[in-house]
Amino acid sequence: MQIRFHIKKNDHVLVLSGKDRDKTGVILEVLPHKRRAIVEGIHMIKRHTRPSPQAPQGGIVEREGTINIANLKLICPKCDKPTRTRRRTLEKDIGGRMKRYRVRVCKKCGEDAERN
Ligand SMILES: [Zn+2]
Repeated sequence: MQIRFHIKKNDHVLVLSGKDRDKTGVILEVLPHKRRAIVEGIHMIKRHTRPSPQAPQGGIVEREGTINIANLKLICPKCDKPTRTRRRTLEKDIGGRMKRYRVRVCKKCGEDAERN
């Protein structure tokens, strides 16, 4: 079963809490079962790495940590504001067959909040 959230990969989001509060970034990955996501440049954590041929001394690598999905708000690609969304089912005629698909709709501007 697919778990659906208000956000998904490649969405532009606003961070609502934590040390990166009020920053924005693009979702690199959603981890549905953990209800967490990785956002570019947000919640950077330092990781100690073992010595390897590339880094014989080992070292500290900074990378994105995960952040709770509930702390992220979608930024509408149409009006560029942080917003809530509702879902709308649309029908489209594709080769004579009506195909139904669901889109997220921005509550601020009423446009569909999908990137096309
Ligand atoms: Zn909007």
